[in-house]
Amino acid sequence: MTIQPTKLELATSDRLRITWSDGQVREYPVRELRDKCPCATCREKRNAPPPPTTQLPVLSAAEAQPLRISGMTPVGNYAYSIDFSDGHNTGIYTLESLREMGQAVEQT
Ligand SMILES: [Zn+2]
Repeated sequence: MTIQPTKLELATSDRLRITWSDGQVREYPVRELRDKCPCATCREKRNAPPPPTTQLPVLSAAEAQPLRISGMTPVGNYAYSIDFSDGHNTGIYTLESLREMGQAVEQT
């Protein structure tokens, strides 16, 4: 039996909350999800050597905005693609990887 999300919601504007079919509730900072984006472009970026520390990172206007999730689309029954407010939407987050990200929260 595969554990599936039963509820997707935003706990706050920058935290995603997923309720899973086994009763577990996990919260995911949007920034963490974006930083762990599994698409090829982001994987390459993460593996690239860090820029020299004397160099300030230059953020584009979109990157300087607080990061939000603008949508989530199921991919088959094993993953979700996430639309981020910075326009990035090529990451496919498998349910397995989502179970490993974020933090479990106490249910109230
Ligand atoms: Zn990506």
